[in-house]
Amino acid sequence: MADAKTVRGRFAPSPSGRMHLGNLCCALAAWLSVRSQNGVMLLRIEDLDPDRCKPAYAEQLMDDLRWLGLDWDEGPGAGGDCGPYLQSERRALYEDALQALKAQGKIYPCFCTRAQLHAASAPHAGDGVFRYPGTCRRLSAAEIREKSRTRAPALRFCAPAGTVEFDDLFLGPQSFDVQAMFGDFLVRRSDGVHAYQLAVAVDDARMGVTEVVRGRDLLASTACQLQLLEALGAPAPRYGHVPLLTNEAGRRLSKRERDLDVGALRARFSPEALCGSLAYLLGLLDRPEPAAARELVPLFSKADFSRPAIAVPETLRLFPPQ
Ligand code: GLU
Repeated sequence: MADAKTVRGRFAPSPSGRMHLGNLCCALAAWLSVRSQNGVMLLRIEDLDPDRCKPAYAEQLMDDLRWLGLDWDEGPGAGGDCGPYLQSERRALYEDALQALKAQGKIYPCFCTRAQLHAASAPHAGDGVFRYPGTCRRLSAAEIREKSRTRAPALRFCAPAGTVEFDDLFLGPQSFDVQAMFGDFLVRRSDGVHAYQLAVAVDDARMGVTEVVRGRDLLASTACQLQLLEALGAPAPRYGHVPLLTNEAGRRLSKRERDLDVGALRARFSPEALCGSLAYLLGLLDRPEPAAARELVPLFSKADFSRPAIAVPETLRLFPPQ
């Protein structure tokens, strides 16, 4: 294991489809940050959701990362002391964490149906996040027994009230009220699949991750993860959230669309051409000129990640905006 001062960063993609330029951009930022500090890079495959994730996508994304020149020191194919590096093989560890939370009375079963949840709560700020109003927090032991007869419950975390503060590596001081934004958030779905927030908090802690560099869509999730880490008595990594890529209309790039899918990009660009273009978008290069990933390491400090978003210029786009 590395000594206490070694930076340990990770890239933690979900194999739910081919990566797009935005995923590559986050991977490059996480990798450059670790490499510029002589740290250890981990790759963790977040394949918890069996409905969405496929092994073939995991193979593909590893091939795409290698193609771009982004390597990892621990993870699938590289070994390491903190495996397994596939979340689907770490379920027993998530159950251990749930037991620890249960022993402290910090989780409870929730029997609400999706329809009840939607009826009870307005979507948060139009981003599809629903605040859970705490309906099942007050169930008695007898009510829980009764409801368990007909329905397998989900599990929710009793999110502490008040704000969670943290200092983002790129954005500075942040403050989120988890209870006001999300309410008591899910830690296990009713079908037994562990929730993203729990798995990420447990894995970052168990894998000794000291630095998380990822997309800004997960900025508020950081507060949930910090609450879980604190409840589990685990140290918190530092977090840095990079701007999301958008098209010219300001719409976020998404895997569900064909926008800048890595397969399409690989057919058009060499790894150096694509890396150089990404480096230009991130502000590392003044012009989009070819550059290997490792050549960008000394330039990492030039990146400006405090921008609200990064618009991808027409020259990188293959498909017209919809
Ligand atoms: N697996 C998550 C995703 O692909 C990222 C998790 C993280 O970086 O914390 O969106």
